[in-house]
Amino acid sequence: MKVFSVFGISGSGKTTTIENIIKELKTRRYSVGSVKEIHFEEFAIDTKGSNTNRHRKAGAELVTARGYHETDILFPEKLDIPKILSFYNQEYVVLEGVTDYNLPKIITAYSEKEIEERLDDSVFAISGKIANSLKEYKGIPVINSMERIDELVDLIEKKVYEKLPDFDPKCCSACGYDCRTLGMKILKEEAKREDCTISDSKIKLKINEKDIDIVPFVQRILENAVRGVVSELEGYKENTKIVITLDNNHE
Ligand code: SF4
Repeated sequence: MKVFSVFGISGSGKTTTIENIIKELKTRRYSVGSVKEIHFEEFAIDTKGSNTNRHRKAGAELVTARGYHETDILFPEKLDIPKILSFYNQEYVVLEGVTDYNLPKIITAYSEKEIEERLDDSVFAISGKIANSLKEYKGIPVINSMERIDELVDLIEKKVYEKLPDFDPKCCSACGYDCRTLGMKILKEEAKREDCTISDSKIKLKINEKDIDIVPFVQRILENAVRGVVSELEGYKENTKIVITLDNNHE
């Protein structure tokens, strides 16, 4: 799954840019998902006094609103990005307004000052209103999504890599960097996505069929624990594949 964010202040052209990107990705036959970050403290579908709110107040930990054309599962908390992405299986996921995760990013802006305030090494393109008057900023292409969407999506195809983990630097540096630095180096073409060795590990963990990244020291703990127990069993052979399934539906 390839994930990137489009961010900028309100009215800078974010949603229009994302609409154009999604349409072009669909034209190119990719499956696409999106996430919209809402910067409004009072935002809630589950409003005070609604029936779903009454379910929650009565003690339901998870509430679902099931309509004729839409089903909304109402988590009573702000989920982090990895948790949200665990519900997606599209080839591309576009995040609107998300800045707190290890991702390639596109800035949308009105002015050079706005770009400058947001620019870092995770930004690979600039778009929005500023694209009417600027073609490049500090070597980063500024692309008008209304007129040159082909070019913007070509760049997305070239730059956006398979989602990387976002571990604490203390937990993993197997590629020689921390996760965020590797992401920035991939964008600058100074490193490759394959330099993240976490998916080559001997231990694979899936929860509900989704691959879960495990930091190296936890991999070692799991490997030693499983090998320690399984090696005592009849039929165990060195260097063979071991599969354990833990199904919580069975008591
Ligand atoms: S090897 Fe992968 S998980 Fe480990 S620091 Fe590098 S990018 Fe992060």
